[in-house]
Amino acid sequence: MTMKLPCCVVRDLLPLYAENLAEPQTQLLVEEHLEQCEACRQALSGLQPSQEAQARAAAPLKNLKRQIQRRRMRAAALAAACAFVLIFAFFFRTGSLRPLPWEEGLIEAAGIEKRTEAEGACGGEKEALVLRTNSRIAGVKTQTMTGENGEQTVFLQGMGRPDSWLSNRPVFTVLFGGLDRTVVDRDGVEYGELVFCPVPDRVIYGYGEEQHLLWGSSAEGGTIVLPRLALAYYLLLAGICALFLGILWAAFRKGRREPVLRQLFFAPAAYVLGHLLLKGKDTVTLSLGSDLCSIALVSAAVYLIFTLGWQAWMQYKREK
Ligand SMILES: [Zn+2]
Repeated sequence: MTMKLPCCVVRDLLPLYAENLAEPQTQLLVEEHLEQCEACRQALSGLQPSQEAQARAAAPLKNLKRQIQRRRMRAAALAAACAFVLIFAFFFRTGSLRPLPWEEGLIEAAGIEKRTEAEGACGGEKEALVLRTNSRIAGVKTQTMTGENGEQTVFLQGMGRPDSWLSNRPVFTVLFGGLDRTVVDRDGVEYGELVFCPVPDRVIYGYGEEQHLLWGSSAEGGTIVLPRLALAYYLLLAGICALFLGILWAAFRKGRREPVLRQLFFAPAAYVLGHLLLKGKDTVTLSLGSDLCSIALVSAAVYLIFTLGWQAWMQYKREK
């Protein structure tokens, strides 16, 4: 059975109808009426908010959601970058060998000996130069140069473990050149042995610009330096850039260029901090490439921490 509703009843029901809150039967009756009544249809369209208006009403909520999401992601990225820097720095500092500066008794020439063992380059029974190293040395890096007069000079750099709580036993790893083994003498003292065959004309212990003659007579003319101090120049350059850009940033803090200057300042500052985290105040390197790569990697993470940290700090200050 159908019942005709008068307009005034339909108008009263329209809010419920628009929200789909009326009884199904009522809903049907209103629909029926609307099909035939133009005036009530117009009244309904006035009730239903446009989609645009609906979106506008929801916008602040969406913005807030996005803001919370962004903040969560930033916190996660910050935590990840911090964890990366700490873990990387820990393993770099405890795991890698560091060049040791010269000290008395670090390495001594034991003299020329006949070596019969068929060890590497020595082969049968040949004369070899034997050097003894104390237990502070965990490995050596050597480089042989042949001069114009045919004289052979061996440059030697002792490497030690950075932390004493890690095993400091000589784990002989000759990176190139020379022969090596660990020997225990009659008193039970462990020392390392470096065997050079054929016998070089001189052996020089090098650390940065310091050089110490271990064997032979000192050469005339220039010598090369085995460990490189290049990291010191990079550190100095980064420090100067950071200082200069930091002053610029402070001076133009209220200006339009503030974000650019800030990010520019963060780059060398991150490099300086990356260096300090990995190498401390040490600037001597025996493997410039890998040291630089490690510092660059950590610096990138530090840069990220600076950038995200700054954003978080600014937000915190705005909200306070
Ligand atoms: Zn009507």
